[in-house]
Amino acid sequence: MINIHPHQIVLIIGTILSLIVLMVGWPRRKMMGGFFFIAFCFSVTEWQIASIVESFVVDQSTKILWSQISYIGFVQSNPYLLLFLFTYIRQRKVTMRMTVSVMIIPVLTLIVAWTNSYTGWLWSGFSQGSIENNVLVYHHGFWFWLHTIYLYIIFVSGFIYLIRAIVLAVPPIRRQLVILLVGILFPVVSGTVYALGWVPIKGLDITPTGLAFTGAFLAWALIRYQLLDLLPVARTALIEQLQDGVIVLDMNGRIADINRSTQKLLGWDPKVIIGKPVDQFFPELPKLVYSTNRPLRREIPLPDSPGIILEFQSSSLFNQRKDEVGKLLVVRDVTSRNRAEADLQNANLQLKEQLAKNKLLQKKLEQQALHDSLTGLYNRHIDEILQKEFSRALREKKPISLAMIDIDHFKKINDKFGHQYGDKLLKSFSEYILSTIREEDLAARFGGDEIMLVFPGMSQENAVIKAEEIRQNFMKLAVVANQQQVSTTITVGVATFPENGTTMDELIRSADWALYAAKEEGRNQVKTMSMVEKA
Ligand code: GH3
Ligand code: MG
Repeated sequence: MINIHPHQIVLIIGTILSLIVLMVGWPRRKMMGGFFFIAFCFSVTEWQIASIVESFVVDQSTKILWSQISYIGFVQSNPYLLLFLFTYIRQRKVTMRMTVSVMIIPVLTLIVAWTNSYTGWLWSGFSQGSIENNVLVYHHGFWFWLHTIYLYIIFVSGFIYLIRAIVLAVPPIRRQLVILLVGILFPVVSGTVYALGWVPIKGLDITPTGLAFTGAFLAWALIRYQLLDLLPVARTALIEQLQDGVIVLDMNGRIADINRSTQKLLGWDPKVIIGKPVDQFFPELPKLVYSTNRPLRREIPLPDSPGIILEFQSSSLFNQRKDEVGKLLVVRDVTSRNRAEADLQNANLQLKEQLAKNKLLQKKLEQQALHDSLTGLYNRHIDEILQKEFSRALREKKPISLAMIDIDHFKKINDKFGHQYGDKLLKSFSEYILSTIREEDLAARFGGDEIMLVFPGMSQENAVIKAEEIRQNFMKLAVVANQQQVSTTITVGVATFPENGTTMDELIRSADWALYAAKEEGRNQVKTMSMVEKA
């Protein structure tokens, strides 16, 4: 009848635990870090089974042999745990170099264990411990301590790495990492207790039991918190470092998670905000976001902060079965962008207005360039217009008549009634002319008191009649100066195409000649070249 002692029961329970962990971990072996987790489980299991056998066999050399066998799993288990942590947290494969360098000491330790009978480096000696519990006490040689220091280095690195990751992580990930941290605490405690000889039964190694607890704890976490199924931590770190705010909503409109940028942008404290309905902060957001499962982009003013505009980009989150399980919102402060756009638009508008003004101004300038400021008639720089009229007459084979008008003794009028009166007379005369000529006719002030009229399509006969009418009406032009009606006269020279010339210049010269002749003949009359020649 074999006597089973409590520490053997502990070892057996630990082995069973390890096997369960192995079963739970097996389907996840393809996940990032899964390989090392399985390797860790295997080595702990092997270590424990060998330890159980060691605790049952009685003969000292057999015991030592089984201890050597247990070292196969023992030396590998801790490095695998470290490699698992590294791979899992970074979600990236560890390099071959790192794997090799982590495994050097364990492999050497294994060699030292199997050659211990020659060196005594690992175990310097053995003595009988509790006979009742069938325990062999292993006296530790220097290599044992070297290996122990190495294990501490491994655990301290693992710790530092984990704590750093915990500090950087977002709340849900942080919880998982804390679980990992607690998990690797077990073997540290049990290993320390054993190394310092604080075990209740002398020589009893409870380190494998500690590791079995780690395995069990991690297995529980695998099931409870989907450890190894987690969102990659590296990706989470990326989201954390995004410039844009990220908000995760569940399907009930509650805030499930926020990243650091959101905390800064909205001044939200994740401890307070997570779990709160989002409409508490953005009343119109749920309506928008849950109305569709397509991506959406909308600008929403930040409540209670006038002028601040946020842009929300929303997309749906689906689980593996393609059910919509939440919303991912990306938030960006677009106030300054919008302001810049508005400024640009404003500047554009002003530019357009200015351009329109410039165009008007240009038109006005062109007008001024061709017009006389006193009378509003054309000035003498209208060659182009005259040329155009003349070409048209040529093309249409129609006559065109000119009437060159000059006020008689205008100098005297100026002298007698003043320059201002002269101006007034010029203005009234011009108004009258504009009112009496046809729309297609032109009137230009050619010089001081000289006005030229152009009558496209008008025969000489009709032009003379028209000029005569103007001459007579001019005399009736009631312009009052010094309380008296001043009566003046005009003299007109008329020329017509084709009779008096074949170019505009010839026509003007002809009209001038007729005018000159009429002045000579005593003024206050209308004359053409033919009248002059006949006379
Ligand atoms: P004539 O019968 O020979 O035409 O005699 P005139 O005095 O009218 O002589 P002329 O046409 O050669 O002189 C034009 C005069 O018109 C000279 C100047 O005193 C006057 N005059 C020219 N421009 C203006 C003006 O803008 N305003 C006024 N008030 N007088 C002007
Ligand atoms: Mg004159």
